[in-house]
Amino acid sequence: MTIESLAEGVIARDQRAMARAITLVENVSPEGATLIGRLFGRSGGAKIIGVTGAPGVGKSTLVDGMTTEWRRRNRTVGILAVDPTSPFSGGAVLGDRIRMQSHAGDSGVYVRSMATRGHLGGLAQATNDAAVILDAAGTDVVIVETVGVGQGEVDIVRTADVSIVVMVPGAGDDVQAIKAGIMEIADIFVVNKADREGADRAVSEIEAALMLHEYADGDWRPPVLKTEAARSTGVNALLDAVEQFVECHEHDRDRLRVRAEVRLRETLSGQLIASLERRDDTRAALEDAVERIARRDIDPYTAAAEIMERAG
Ligand code: GDP
Repeated sequence: MTIESLAEGVIARDQRAMARAITLVENVSPEGATLIGRLFGRSGGAKIIGVTGAPGVGKSTLVDGMTTEWRRRNRTVGILAVDPTSPFSGGAVLGDRIRMQSHAGDSGVYVRSMATRGHLGGLAQATNDAAVILDAAGTDVVIVETVGVGQGEVDIVRTADVSIVVMVPGAGDDVQAIKAGIMEIADIFVVNKADREGADRAVSEIEAALMLHEYADGDWRPPVLKTEAARSTGVNALLDAVEQFVECHEHDRDRLRVRAEVRLRETLSGQLIASLERRDDTRAALEDAVERIARRDIDPYTAAAEIMERAG
């Protein structure tokens, strides 16, 4: 199958073509790059929703509920489940698939778990590319579900139209995490498992942390919403908040520019590393540098400078 016919299959929303296309970008291949070049102009219509939070907070349950509600609102939905902690295993992947079976047989819902054998940066790139594919296939809402709050996830979330951070009652550590930086990327906070004790306290804690932030007039102040995903309670209000946020930021050029810049830098650094890895001498130098840095024989800056010099 040629890239051209694969692209046509994606645009026609053929599920097998979509699956093959995502596999191509997952492998960070030159064919994947060509495909994205073909599809990018067709993308931009979908709303990309980032949902992030620690394992077990109820992300999958929540995403499932959001999907049901969006389908009720006549939107097509794509779900990309990203778990950087298990790049090879089928563990989380299988869990997501099982949970998403509630939408099996609905051609308006496409579910895919993302994995990569590459580095975290590669996963962020592959996920963004997969979102372009779903977008070009005419998907209205693409939900990117990520675990945790590491840099790789932040990179993914920074390219979303709206970022939802999910927490649960009694997670003091999570509020620390907010202070440590996730705050900047969260557009909406959700305290899930609101049936548990301490939900209101968790809401107050997050709101208190948000108070420390200075907002100008007209700035979006992230709402803190309570949900009980297991019973679909609060999901409607969450979707309303998402739509309100999207509406407010639709013409936010700064935000679009930030996203474009994140994407460009990610792609450039990925290509730079890939080109170093393609050449035998620089690949050997990279591998050698890793060993030397691990032994603390050399610092990462000097090692990088040496490799850059060798690459010319
Ligand atoms: P994820 O790892 O963040 O995707 O979390 P899951 O969606 O797999 O949920 C983890 C567990 O929490 C599951 O057993 C869910 O049934 C449960 N759960 C999800 N939402 C709620 C809720 O609102 N209340 C309670 N008590 N449990 C929930």
